[in-house]
This record gives sequence, C-alpha cells and structure tokens, in this order.
Amino acid sequence: MTKPRLLLLATGGTIAGIAPSAASTLSYAPASLGADSLIASVPALADLAEITTEMPFSTGSQHMTSTCWLTLAARVRQAIADPAIDGVVITHGTDTLEETALFLDLTCPRNKAVVLTGAMRPATALGADGPMNLYAAAVLAASPASRGAGAIVLMNDQAFGPDRAAKVHTSRVDAFVARSAMPLALMLDGKAVWQTPAAVAAERRPSLAAHFASLPDALPRVDLIAQQVDADPTIVDWCVQQGARGIVLAGTGHGTMSRPIEAALGRAAEKGCLVVRASRISDGPVMPGAGVDDDRFGFIAAGFVTPHKARLLLSLLIAAGLDREAARAIFARF
Ligand code: ASP
Repeated sequence: MTKPRLLLLATGGTIAGIAPSAASTLSYAPASLGADSLIASVPALADLAEITTEMPFSTGSQHMTSTCWLTLAARVRQAIADPAIDGVVITHGTDTLEETALFLDLTCPRNKAVVLTGAMRPATALGADGPMNLYAAAVLAASPASRGAGAIVLMNDQAFGPDRAAKVHTSRVDAFVARSAMPLALMLDGKAVWQTPAAVAAERRPSLAAHFASLPDALPRVDLIAQQVDADPTIVDWCVQQGARGIVLAGTGHGTMSRPIEAALGRAAEKGCLVVRASRISDGPVMPGAGVDDDRFGFIAAGFVTPHKARLLLSLLIAAGLDREAARAIFARF
C-alpha cells in the first residue's frame, strides 16, 4: 500500500531547540535543529508516511514577521495544489503558533490538512514533548479524516481549531487550550478521535482565500494597543501618524476603554482607520454594541477573536479591500 505523502515545513522554535543539560527546559537555544534531525528523532514516522522536508526559515517564533507569514502561505498554497502532497506539517515556535495557524487558515484553501505543532521543552530535555507532538501532527496530516480541515494546531494530544487555539501557559507542556470551545480532536493511542468532524469545523470558519487569488507583497500596518489604568491616548494619534490603517484595542473586560482612549479611537475611525475592540481577558467574546456604542464611534467588536489574532485578521481584511461593514460581518462570524 502506498503511504501518504507529507510535506514537513520546519520553521524553528523550541521543538528544534538545544539546551546545555537534559534538565534545562527554559534556558536553551531555539531553532537549532534542522528538519531532518526532527524527523530522525521519530523513527516511527517512516512507517506512517513518506515525508519530504523544507526549512523556509528558522527562528524563535517571537521573531515572526508578516513577511515570514506570506512566504509560508505561498509555499502551503503550492503544496495544497500539488497532487503529489497529501498533507502538510509545520513545526513552529509556540509563542506565535496560533497566529500563524489562523493566518494560513484564512489565506490558503482548506482541502488538505495543514497541521502546526511545536514543543514546550527543547529537543534535549528529559520528557521532551516535541517527538510525540510531531508524530501526532503527522498522523493528523496523513489521515483521510482530516481532508478539508484547513489549518489545525496540534499540541499535547489535542487538536485545536486555528480560531480558538490559545497558548495559556508560559512553560508547561499542557500550554494550549481551545478558548471558549472544545478541542476538535483528541489523540488516543496514536490515533485521532474527532470530536467535531474536521471539514465541518472548517466550514464554520470564515475564509479569505477567495479574496487572495494572489498574495500581497506586504500587509497593511495594523497596531495593537492596550487599555490600562492611566492609558495615554496620544499613542492612538501616533499610530495613525505612522500610517496605521487599522488599530486593535486589547480593552478591559468586555472590550471597554477609558473616555480619553474612546475619544482618540473615535478620531482615528473618523479618519478611515478601522478600529477593532477586543479584550485583554483570557476568555469570552466582545459583542457588538455591548458596553460601548460601536455605531456611534465606528468601532468593530472582535467577537471571539483575541487581540493578537484580531490584528492579523484586520490586516488581511484591509489587504483584501474590505470596508468597515464587511469587516464587521467577518468578525461577527468568529
Ligand atoms: N520562544 C519559543 C518560540 O516561540 C517558544 C516555543 O517554541 O515554545 O519559538
């Protein structure tokens, strides 16, 4: 029987990290191993699939840029169009993994699974989680049940939708959860048990792939600012002066803000800047018109989208040429 053919795109992170001792889990050099070393650490992969490897870039994912995202999206789109590739696995640092997953999910067709995984412990650590995560990601990417899944995050035996995956712990191996949701699938004894069929979950998420027949060379500037006690509203005017076409607020509570920030964001919206209000709270939505008069100020409520994801989503919506009402409609569907 022919084995599924997978493309592994290795991009660095802790999963490719090396520490000075087996007990070191926090002090290490990330992005130190190449794709072939990752494969070599999981001999069982050879029974599962034929895997070709590439390393489009290698970095700690705190250094991720939109240029890297566009490079990765271009390669994933090619792979999805290639009949010789059945699925894609991406190894990635965990710091921005959930954002990269959403970016790819929004910009790439979803007919093949694109599974992103990483590790919380470097490859040299006792109880390193990378090898099992990589194996599980390959199982998911190779499985016919994953067709139509779009981008999925696989960490610690759980598969999460890219819209809801969230890193919620700085160091433990159970660092990821599904925000306001359940995992899409659980890995049990090396097999995926889907709680929600992959394609059904993917159909519920808005896609922007139809807006991007070709990918842009660069993304419009969108800034993220935070509401806090004594927040200085001049940061908003500065962002607009710097050319921000959108601003996301990580607001207090239900996406709320102080009067000075509200006035400054209202001024930005009047100038045509798209303003999204999200929340700095770790769970729950920001609903339109609740707590803030979105219509009066021209704001967009983020729904279930976190501030960091709202920033990339808004940037893509602007790149696609969508106006405020169209952007509102997309946020409301998350
Ligand atoms: N700083 C690392 C990164 O995101 C953390 C990790 O991979 O877990 O690349």
